Amino acid sequence: MGMNAKYIETDVIIIGAGPVGLFAVFEAGLLKMRCHLIDILPQPGGQLTEIYPKKPIYDIPGYPSVLAGELVQNLLKQIEPFRPGFTLGERAEVLERQADGRWRVITDRGTVHVAPAVFIAGGLGSFEPRKPPIGNIGDYENGRGVAYYVRNPEDYRGQRVVIAGGGDSALDWTIYLADEAAALTLVHRRSEFRGAPDSVEKVQELARQGRIRLITNAQVVGLSGNGRLERVTIQHDTDGAFEADTDYFLPLFGLTPKLGPIGEWGLQLQDGAIAVNTYDYSTNLPGVFAIGDVNTYPGKLKLILCGFHEATLACQSAFKVVNPGKKLSFKYTTVTGIEGLPVETPA
Ligand SMILES: Cc1cc2nc3c(=O)[nH]c(=O)nc-3n(C[C@H](O)[C@H](O)[C@H](O)COP(=O)(O)OP(=O)(O)OC[C@H]3O[C@@H](n4cnc5c(N)ncnc54)[C@H](O)[C@@H]3O)c2cc1C
Repeated sequence: MGMNAKYIETDVIIIGAGPVGLFAVFEAGLLKMRCHLIDILPQPGGQLTEIYPKKPIYDIPGYPSVLAGELVQNLLKQIEPFRPGFTLGERAEVLERQADGRWRVITDRGTVHVAPAVFIAGGLGSFEPRKPPIGNIGDYENGRGVAYYVRNPEDYRGQRVVIAGGGDSALDWTIYLADEAAALTLVHRRSEFRGAPDSVEKVQELARQGRIRLITNAQVVGLSGNGRLERVTIQHDTDGAFEADTDYFLPLFGLTPKLGPIGEWGLQLQDGAIAVNTYDYSTNLPGVFAIGDVNTYPGKLKLILCGFHEATLACQSAFKVVNPGKKLSFKYTTVTGIEGLPVETPA
């Protein structure tokens, strides 16, 4: 455990800050339960923020059309009164039961979360970057020249950058960084791109103007440098291999979800998803519920609206876990309004 390890106590730990985990905060808040969300991504929203923020969704009740990114912003606004805590950029690694019956969730950075109830809302699992098969790529990760996400575009100002990929992320960052970088090369292994047509158009225009170098039908196959990345080897399908000096190499091949640690917690799994009881979306572990894309049951549909329903029912049973012996009476929000939770007083 690191020096800065944090300790957080709450009513419900939610693993996964996708739409379903976020909405669970609202339903739990109505029942006066505090929540703390954990996500490996640096921002909330799950697939909606990471994969398709600009796509319109048409099957959210009451919204004829809503951009995925906008839905996430609205969910964040809706849960604000309930003051959820967030542990972002950390992967939930360990789930274990304490002697006092509560659950403990520990992240890869050593943050410890303790609560009587846990909601696993991990979607398709934690998103991990797809890495190119270059043997020594690990030598240049962690600030030595290779990065799989653009966390801070400022880092690339005035630098030489090679981007690889043919999807939206590669195209969008090529367009954005064309103005920032000292030199920018986009390498793509095919001649057609998978990204949005207008982005493809823009990238081709930048190449025609000589503002970027576009190399198609080619792949980055080698990296070299003394302790830090200095050059890449580019293999062209027909013209052979050549080297290019660079400060950064950004392989932006998208993210692939991995169930990851969730698969090792003793949960009953079926086809890579967590088997649940549809009465309350409880798992085989007492006090642990699974909601959203991560669960499975007869008739399961991986839809946001179904996840919202699952979160709502799971909260009813979680209330009994969090408040043993207390009676829960059902009330409409039209009757109660929204009574937020007070700021937590530090222990
Ligand atoms: C292109 C596309 C279009 C879609 N269109 C629609 C549509 O029109 N309508 C619709 O209803 N649905 C649509 N979907 C499906 C919808 O996005 C999913 O059903 C929804 O995202 C599920 O939400 P979730 O909260 O369960 O999981 P996710 O959104 O997958 O979020 C899960 C989160 O958990 C995190 N996580 C997982 N494991 C860990 C761990 N161990 N530690 C820390 N964090 C972890 C992940 O990083 C992720 O952020 C679409 C999906 C895609 C890809």
